[in-house]
Amino acid sequence: MTRNKTLTTLVIFLMFLLGMSGCSSTQPTLEPSHDKVKVFVSLLPQAYFAEKVGGDHVQVDVLIPPGADPHTYEPTPQQMKDLAEADLYLAIGTIEFEELWMGRIRGVNPAMPVFDTSRGVELIAGDPHIWLSPTRAKVQAQNIYTALSEIDAANQEDYQQNLQSFQVEMDQLHQDIIKQFKNIKHKEFMVFHPAWKYFCVDYGLEEIAIEQDGKEPTAQEMARLIDQARQKGIRVILTSPQHSAHEAEAIASDLQGEVIKIDPLSRDYSANLRQVTQELAAILSRD
Ligand SMILES: [Zn+2]
Repeated sequence: MTRNKTLTTLVIFLMFLLGMSGCSSTQPTLEPSHDKVKVFVSLLPQAYFAEKVGGDHVQVDVLIPPGADPHTYEPTPQQMKDLAEADLYLAIGTIEFEELWMGRIRGVNPAMPVFDTSRGVELIAGDPHIWLSPTRAKVQAQNIYTALSEIDAANQEDYQQNLQSFQVEMDQLHQDIIKQFKNIKHKEFMVFHPAWKYFCVDYGLEEIAIEQDGKEPTAQEMARLIDQARQKGIRVILTSPQHSAHEAEAIASDLQGEVIKIDPLSRDYSANLRQVTQELAAILSRD
């Protein structure tokens, strides 16, 4: 009995040792390897992409706050201080704000890599709003994955998995939007700030802008726009929280149309695009 007991104890002890050595090779990946990667992005939708790809390994800060205009924004002194401590800047690569400020941003943190997430994105001349296209968001996410894997190679596998889930989410979103616009009767709508060209190209729509070269229209331009809208049977005008809406209201009342307030810069990217699609498709489907 005693002998057997000793043997059993020995066997258990040996199994324990073997188990230990078996575990030790996988142990380092189970431990949290370091603090979170401090990532800065320019726009709120980019925060959605970066958080999806980065998961628990990243802390994302957004330079341009809700409601601010990304074409004219200026970072605060506190933001410049925070930028000095960041590990990575994910640039959208197409907006004027970055061109104007990147020199100063690099100045406060010369060691921080700045990664252009528009690499490989099929661009439309004159429209910087590349994020408003789920198919192009996939390319931006791929770039975010590459950037994060470069500076945090230890978590590359997690980033890869997160990227795959994000790509599935974007494919689903893309298909759902196609479905919603399938049976619309009108494809044209009016918008104050022309942010939706990428979206229009992807889903067979056409935007007509009230704003002309970033400025409010003159009285003459307003008259021409109203004519154009009437000829095309336009009944919906989109406005956004970043821009004034009184011209849109004026045109809508002239056309007996509707103004829909939508946000091209919502942080809740997928839900926002679904809601925009639903509201727009409902109006474009009427006779
Ligand atoms: Zn814009």
